[in-house]
Amino acid sequence: MRHSLVLVINSGSSSLKFALIDAVSGDARLTGLGECFGLSDASVSWKYDGEKSSFALEATGNHHQQAIDRLVLLLDELGLKQDIIAIGHRVVHGGERFSETVKIDDQVLAEIEALSELAPLHNPAHVIGIRAAISAFPYLPQYAVFDTAFHQSMPAKAYRYALPEKLYQDFGIRRYGFHGTSHFFVSLEAAKLLGKPAEKTNVITVHLGNGASICAVRNGQSVDTSMGFTPTAGLMMGTRCGDLDPGIVDFLINKGWSQAEVQQALNKEAGFLGVSGLTSDCRGIVEAMEAGHAGAKLAFEIFTYRVAKYIASYMVALDELDAIVFTGGIGENSLPVRSEVLKYLKIFGYREDATGNANARFGEKGVITKPNTPMAMVIPTNEEWVIARESMALLHA
Ligand code: ADP
Repeated sequence: MRHSLVLVINSGSSSLKFALIDAVSGDARLTGLGECFGLSDASVSWKYDGEKSSFALEATGNHHQQAIDRLVLLLDELGLKQDIIAIGHRVVHGGERFSETVKIDDQVLAEIEALSELAPLHNPAHVIGIRAAISAFPYLPQYAVFDTAFHQSMPAKAYRYALPEKLYQDFGIRRYGFHGTSHFFVSLEAAKLLGKPAEKTNVITVHLGNGASICAVRNGQSVDTSMGFTPTAGLMMGTRCGDLDPGIVDFLINKGWSQAEVQQALNKEAGFLGVSGLTSDCRGIVEAMEAGHAGAKLAFEIFTYRVAKYIASYMVALDELDAIVFTGGIGENSLPVRSEVLKYLKIFGYREDATGNANARFGEKGVITKPNTPMAMVIPTNEEWVIARESMALLHA
């Protein structure tokens, strides 16, 4: 039986992730990653039918194009190429221009490129990946799915900073928010679990991965989120600092730090890594904390305290709250993180159900609070599936 497949591409500056998604079941038939682009050891690895393989790219040249060309050969060898009906690209920044998924044409591509000013690390890389995909699959419709789109429903009081209006008008300085596909997906899945229509569902979605953000979802729409003008804002993350007194940047520059050094410290050397001095990985933090490492303990405490503070503050954005929804690598798997966050929320009536918390791991969803208390749940995210589904929806529109 033939299947309809959507190729999902997430092109980064030195990497390219791909997944071939069955448009009906949502299953990933093939997943892969090209990495070390720009270096002599660039390669592409993939997983198909439980088997892993990899392929070295040429030492030099356009690695995005090489990776996609190799992918085309692979899809041909596996007999999957002719079943692909669309390509969906993850695009980090859609600015105020894109509040939903769009079909990519020359105009859209130019607009994504123009938004590079707001996402200098991401949008230029997406454009390279999109161009490579168009040259490899010129006959297929291609769609852009934006991380920022879900948050375009935020009211001005949530998205505007208390800065001179001119900065918003001249430069578009405002809160955009990211991880939109994930917040959108888990809010829909939460609605299903709650047995409510999405447009009547009110949840606080808590995406905790290497990057982390929280979103207040009111009647199915994002009304506030913790990442801001850039993905550095909000929660503490693997290597990002999250919210910070802007005076600290000033102070360091006055101390003679360059802008690049400050950026490096805030984005790559902060968070779990910076506070613990050990690792950016939550598992490593928890293990070290349990072994008595003081830095790891402090990192865990700052992280969980801040998550709980954000959840509490987002209650003012909602008239009612059906559930707190944990997702992302940490949110889906880390019992101690979820347990600690719920302890901080005791004043609101949250009570952990230890069995529920222990069961909702490794891809299992479930409620993690006791019956007849305010509800928290775990729902594994699936951003590739959202990208495939959004692409399919437009294809059939
Ligand atoms: P990304 O933002 O890069 O997509 P992920 O969503 O994959 O990141 O999350 C990565 C984080 O999830 C890491 O901090 C990792 O330690 C954490 N994580 C993954 N599995 C577990 C686990 N079993 N227990 C605790 N933390 C986990």
